[in-house]
Amino acid sequence: MDHIELQDKVGLVLGVANERSIAWAIAQGLDRSGARVALAYQNERVRPHVERLAATLHGPLVHPCDVTEDDQIGALFARIEREWGQLDFLVHSIAFAPARELGGEFLRTSRAGFHETLDVSAYSLIPLARGAVPLMGPRGGAVVAITFQASERVFPGYNVMGTAKAALEQIIRQLACELGPRAVRVCGLSAGPLRTLAARGIPGFPEMARSHAERAPLKRNITHDEVAHAALFLVSDLASGITGEVLHVDAGYHIMGV
Ligand code: NAD
Repeated sequence: MDHIELQDKVGLVLGVANERSIAWAIAQGLDRSGARVALAYQNERVRPHVERLAATLHGPLVHPCDVTEDDQIGALFARIEREWGQLDFLVHSIAFAPARELGGEFLRTSRAGFHETLDVSAYSLIPLARGAVPLMGPRGGAVVAITFQASERVFPGYNVMGTAKAALEQIIRQLACELGPRAVRVCGLSAGPLRTLAARGIPGFPEMARSHAERAPLKRNITHDEVAHAALFLVSDLASGITGEVLHVDAGYHIMGV
């Protein structure tokens, strides 16, 4: 049981592709805590998986949204407005980089690969927040985006995705400043390595996860549920004084020098 009460909240979670997605752990935690959840999925390829998972939640709204398409973002929020008329929080758990941009030399990053990675993994938070804020109304709300420490430190091979995470965290701070007067909080959640579809695309991921477990103060890897619990806290009223923050859920790995 997740011990946060979110009974009166409705929220949108983007980024469920399968049962290993961080977004799915978050959506389940939200559902258990009493929130009503909308799941936005990328495309037809993931739809059957998302629909199968969604059927285990309490009356979720399920809607397609490729975040590189403004029309689809518009249609998603139009549907939420039509069906719910309000939104309390948004969880962004989306990233993509073409395979050729991961591993190999960062020096070879292509212009097209840079644009695509930054568009999906960082820029998307801006139009999504733009769509969500009007639905949050005067009572405000919360936005949480999942990030990774490659924004602050070098993880060889992570390459342009590190660039995107740095941009994402700057966007979090910029939005936090701009949306604060409207009582909308914007935070990042920097997760340690977790075995997911996205992680499979990162060369050397198993070694990275192993080294993380060895060097982290807690001497282990984190779990999906630990990320979900922190996300539940950040979208809840218990976090009402926190905005612009990037919270590390990484067993303490980020504090280490050696
Ligand atoms: P995942 O592959 O399950 O999730 C990535 C999601 O992004 C998928 O649902 C995919 O459909 C979605 N997506 C990609 N392009 C999209 C587009 N154009 N429009 C809409 N959706 C799109 O993997 P994950 O590990 O759960 O990743 C979720 C987030 O967590 C990402 O931001 C990732 O960088 C971050 N993260 C992951 C780890 C890890 O070790 N797995 C660690 C830190 C941060």
